[in-house]
Amino acid sequence: MSTVKEEKMPILEMKRDYYHLIINGERMESSSGETFTTYNPATGEPLATIQQGTLEDVEKAVQAARNAFDNGKWKRYPVGKRSRVLNKIAEIMRSRFKELVELEILNSGKSLSAAQGQVMQAIEDFEFYAGAIVGHRGHVNNVPGGFFNYTQKEPVGVCAQIIPWNYPMMMAAWKIAPAIASGCSVIIKPASLTPVTAIVMAEICHEAGVPDGVVNVVSGPGSVVGDALAQHPQVDKVAFTGSTPTGKDIMEKASKTLKRVTLELGGKSPNIIFEDADIDAAVDGSLFGIFYNTGQSCEARSRLYIHEDIYDKFMDKFVEKTKKLTLGNPFDKGTHLGSIISREQLEVIDGYVRSAVEEGAHVLVGGREAKVEGFENGYWYEPTIITNVTPEMKAVKEEIFGPVVVVMSFSNEKEVIKEANNSIYGLGSAIWTKDQGRATRVANEIDAGIVMVNCPFSAFPGTPFGGYKQSGFGRELCIETLDLYTETKSVISYYGSRPINPFGV
Ligand code: NAD
Repeated sequence: MSTVKEEKMPILEMKRDYYHLIINGERMESSSGETFTTYNPATGEPLATIQQGTLEDVEKAVQAARNAFDNGKWKRYPVGKRSRVLNKIAEIMRSRFKELVELEILNSGKSLSAAQGQVMQAIEDFEFYAGAIVGHRGHVNNVPGGFFNYTQKEPVGVCAQIIPWNYPMMMAAWKIAPAIASGCSVIIKPASLTPVTAIVMAEICHEAGVPDGVVNVVSGPGSVVGDALAQHPQVDKVAFTGSTPTGKDIMEKASKTLKRVTLELGGKSPNIIFEDADIDAAVDGSLFGIFYNTGQSCEARSRLYIHEDIYDKFMDKFVEKTKKLTLGNPFDKGTHLGSIISREQLEVIDGYVRSAVEEGAHVLVGGREAKVEGFENGYWYEPTIITNVTPEMKAVKEEIFGPVVVVMSFSNEKEVIKEANNSIYGLGSAIWTKDQGRATRVANEIDAGIVMVNCPFSAFPGTPFGGYKQSGFGRELCIETLDLYTETKSVISYYGSRPINPFGV
């Protein structure tokens, strides 16, 4: 492995042709010399060359993170000092907001407004944890006289953090911010389709004063780099966001050394419109719920349940507005939907639509690859509404991860709760009603980590994000996340006036 420049982490242009691994505070080339290309999915054109990590690079990164954790100063800093560094990371990101947004759009094809919102949230995540860590502390507990017991929170250690392609920068922030706030060292493995903003974020961490070895990035195939990190005996925790099958595989591997594991996995979130809902608000919220980020969201409200009394009225407006959504240059302010991440993902989406049609469903809107002027070689799919579906259909049961919603009607609350819960997943859900009693009742009965009531959003810094059932476990984006990056140590002392002799010998 060779060091690229003598100066350890010189500040480079964020947008460039070439991105390195980041290990022990240095930009590194891969030990094999191999690279891979990452693309702009809106145009299909190559965006940059990325160093491809190997098992040897994983080993170097784990040793760097281990050394930084065991022998370094980061976890020993007063918490206020760590907090200041996190705020500095946010400050640098704010000052380079436009560049970060541009880079995120170029690598993911997402729309300007989506990228702006997500980069801003990534910044706010660092600010949130800069504050939250200061208040994260142990307790003094009630114990018999003469004894004294306190608990303290200590960082879990070296964390492997494996992230997906749908929110590249935000997912990197969700992982890095709480981990380093807690005093851990991390090795990030970004998705190969979208590695650049996680690499840049690690560079910013160094610029802000994070010591060498605390934030490392090893890009490369999940089957090599991700797999090795999930098994490595010197990794203490694996935090994974991605698909449910990969999450199961990682959990199995991590169990061999009893690593701490948190999993943020797939979803098939129900969106329930009751007969007393504000229909216009529900239509707008449902459009956003499924088509935001071109449907490539784990909490996409992809199963739409509409009360039969308002079905026609709701659907007329929903269809009309869906037809008004624009696909186009992701950098244009008016663009609602960006591209699909890859040709493979586009084919997966189309396969689900075709399977629904074969099983007897009706494509009411969309249902095809879209052609976007000026972006003919990119990957685009029409916003799609499918009706005439049954609960057994593949497109109703499985996560499609694209701009496709399946629509069903219902006649009563009990029935719709049963259908909403008829899923292996339990990540997001939404309810639209003016009846607060009903909202509370249904929220209590839904098996999901998140319930949105008359609300199209679910994730602000501070709101717990995570799933029930096969959507995984652990919560991110909130104060409780800090518990998942720390161990609780109980210290008990005796100050009694008489010596204790429990054996009485
Ligand atoms: P994926 O599971 O294919 O990949 C996720 C990451 O895991 C990538 O970095 C990949 O390289 C790596 N990986 C792949 N195989 C691996 C292996 N065997 N061992 C270790 N690492 C491996 O998922 P994706 O296609 O990148 O992302 C889409 C999925 O992510 C969807 O299912 C979506 O619902 C889920 N997701 C969940 C949340 C959440 O918070 N619950 C958020 C975003 C995305």
